[in-house]
Amino acid sequence: MQRLDAFMAGANAAYYARHDPFADFTTAPEISQVVGELLGAWAAVTWRAMGAPARVILAEAGPGRGTLMADALRVIRHTAPDFARALRLHLVEASPRLRALAGAKLPEATWHARVEDLPDGPLILLANEFLDALPIRQFIRRGAGWAERFVDGGAFVEVPCAPPAASEQDGEIREICEPARAFAAQLGARLARDGGAALFLDYGPEASAPGDSLQAVRAGRPADPLADPGEADLTAHVDFAAFAAAARAAGAATFGPLPQGMFLVRLGLYQRTDQLARANPARTQSLIGAAQRLAEPGLMGRLFKALALSHPALPAPAGFEA
Ligand code: SAH
Repeated sequence: MQRLDAFMAGANAAYYARHDPFADFTTAPEISQVVGELLGAWAAVTWRAMGAPARVILAEAGPGRGTLMADALRVIRHTAPDFARALRLHLVEASPRLRALAGAKLPEATWHARVEDLPDGPLILLANEFLDALPIRQFIRRGAGWAERFVDGGAFVEVPCAPPAASEQDGEIREICEPARAFAAQLGARLARDGGAALFLDYGPEASAPGDSLQAVRAGRPADPLADPGEADLTAHVDFAAFAAAARAAGAATFGPLPQGMFLVRLGLYQRTDQLARANPARTQSLIGAAQRLAEPGLMGRLFKALALSHPALPAPAGFEA
């Protein structure tokens, strides 16, 4: 019997080590090169707002195939060569398999297994669909008390526990992602100390909400999250409110969460899409389709959110201006 977070951590480590996750699902930077390009421009603008430090760490957590960062660096080299010279690329990736894939595109990167291992100094960090993979605990209200969910033989087992939250509603489920909160606190403290900013694109509601959001995707389809650990990608909604609160408590400023569609459109999603379409008329339909998929509220535009953390003296990051 394992607590749910231990089960989820073990299942995802096995899944990312053995499988090509992109055979099972796709992500924003894999849908359109424009995502990485806009985030590269965001990083360059952030670096200038930081006072253009002569050395800066450009990091990504969970780079997957390396697509986002390769697209970002292409734009940075073309439009901000001084930033390109100042930056050192650091990637945080637990899976040796994905390190090899992304490393082929990003040979200059220094690799780390954990976000806590990034070196000190001014930092610009990007992460797409990283937080949703971090393991959660689940608690369920039962009568007068609460129980925590453990996993045993493919089924949940409930173990009575102390109340994790205030709720009167029988059967209500609460989720906590402890590694995300610890990461937010550590990152918030280092941004407040050493300077810089971080940008997270991920999916989840605007405000903390009760309910079971654990889900599994196997071969492109929803699957039972407790069956066949290591054969499916397990994710949960990101609790942006809790993540931002932990970063603020550690001294960082936070911005958002904004709907991903609004954020990408503000950064120039459709202008860049148009520019690419004019250069490649045969790709016009697929470029516009990709932009719509990322930005339309009924597709990825609303469920996905953008959240930024920064040094408290920096102006609002690009896309988050009031
Ligand atoms: N950002 C990529 C990949 C998203 S999949 C994209 O958008 O396409 C999640 C990524 O996070 C994978 O690269 C996975 O190996 C990595 N990952 C998940 N949990 C991790 C952890 N605890 N530490 C480091 N990397 C992790």
